[in-house]
Amino acid sequence: MVRNILIVCAGLVVLAAAGCAENQSVLSALPDPSVRPDPAQRAAALPARPLLIQHPYRPLWQPMSVRTVAFGEPDWMPTIGLSARWTCIVVHHSASDKGTPESMDQSHRQRGWDELGYHFVIGNGLGYPDGKVYVGARWDKQKHGAHCKVPGNYYNEHGIGICLMGNLEDHPPTDAQMQALAHLVMYLESQCGFSYDRVLTHGGITGKTLCPGRYFSTNDLYRRISAPMYASRK
Ligand SMILES: [Zn+2]
Repeated sequence: MVRNILIVCAGLVVLAAAGCAENQSVLSALPDPSVRPDPAQRAAALPARPLLIQHPYRPLWQPMSVRTVAFGEPDWMPTIGLSARWTCIVVHHSASDKGTPESMDQSHRQRGWDELGYHFVIGNGLGYPDGKVYVGARWDKQKHGAHCKVPGNYYNEHGIGICLMGNLEDHPPTDAQMQALAHLVMYLESQCGFSYDRVLTHGGITGKTLCPGRYFSTNDLYRRISAPMYASRK
């Protein structure tokens, strides 16, 4: 009994000594309070502030650095680099479940345009793989779009046109399409330097079309952009 009490006491002495040693090392690491630090040196010693990107669905306290959103597929960056013209993204649907980016390109040429009007097309698994992003020739050239006509042509000049394949008046886009769209939007926004509220829809701009269809949900897109998997990817 006495022996047990002695062992417990010895243990407490050892623990107390360890605690003191720790406190001692913390104290010795603190700066000397009698020395006033130079304000410039103090500012330089502070860690860099993470960039706070704000949009309606992201809590303001959630920091996200540019690096965490700047990932993308290799062919999403044009070889000639990015033009400074881009200020927004305009989302469309193809209004048809079948077709390929090539058939869309041909149909746009038949309408008198020089080539496929969109910068990107996202497949739905019928004519082009589900969730696969097709990079149009316009994007490689950083050329204006032919997808959203308004007086003055602002959205063709400055909007990046992304088309989801499928008739989204009849059914929602596939999960893979929405994931690919969220990924592409995150990449473009981080690279082009505009904010999340610059994702627009064709019908939202002109008020003269149902494009991108009643089943396209901007809220769903924002939810995917806010998902932690994107915050943690590099
Ligand atoms: Zn459209």
